[in-house]
Amino acid sequence: MRRRPATVVEVALLVALLSPPATAGAQFRPSCSLPESDAEALTLPGDHHLPGYWWDHTDLTVGIRAHAGASGAEITALEEAVGTWADVLDRCFDGVLTLDPVAGSGPADIVVHLVPPTRDVVLGGFARCGGRGCPDVVVLDHGSPAPAYLGRVALHELGHALGLGHPTNLHRTTDLMGYGWPSRGAPVLSDCDVDALAHVFAWALEGGEPVPPGPGPYDCSQD
Ligand SMILES: [Zn+2]
Repeated sequence: MRRRPATVVEVALLVALLSPPATAGAQFRPSCSLPESDAEALTLPGDHHLPGYWWDHTDLTVGIRAHAGASGAEITALEEAVGTWADVLDRCFDGVLTLDPVAGSGPADIVVHLVPPTRDVVLGGFARCGGRGCPDVVVLDHGSPAPAYLGRVALHELGHALGLGHPTNLHRTTDLMGYGWPSRGAPVLSDCDVDALAHVFAWALEGGEPVPPGPGPYDCSQD
């Protein structure tokens, strides 16, 4: 049977049907330029020593709760840590992944708690995560470190709350998510930190349905 030649409209429709939408499945690249760090790879929440939490939404909110004896400088340092992450997400993720501060004691996805130290805990801070989220970041106010140090601890723990683990070369890197700072230099909120977050939130950045990230570690040397 002789086929009728396809018209321009039919050809255009065929091309549209054969071509995936521009965003679906396309790998998202963070639209920002951050310093490189010496982290080799970052573990992710699905890895064995993390509880496998993940966020199923991307318009995250964060509040700060400080103990009654906290100084204004300490609270400012925590606010600046929140502001740093909010600014980085704004610059890197085109408004898809955001972190908005919540004033006062209103409900928030993540709460940064500044608490007095207990005798049992000598850490600078930790993130309490599980299931679908990581709702509590705890920063211990040991009194002696400068407020700027508390801010750096909060910055690190907020990285956990967003979905990052530790670098595989934990003690040898000054990456924000490592333990090499402050002894080896200032913490570096690096391109690997945001690349790994792009991997964790790929479902949203690539226009899909919420799914947990696969296991890490995320290799910092990949493009
Ligand atoms: Zn940590």
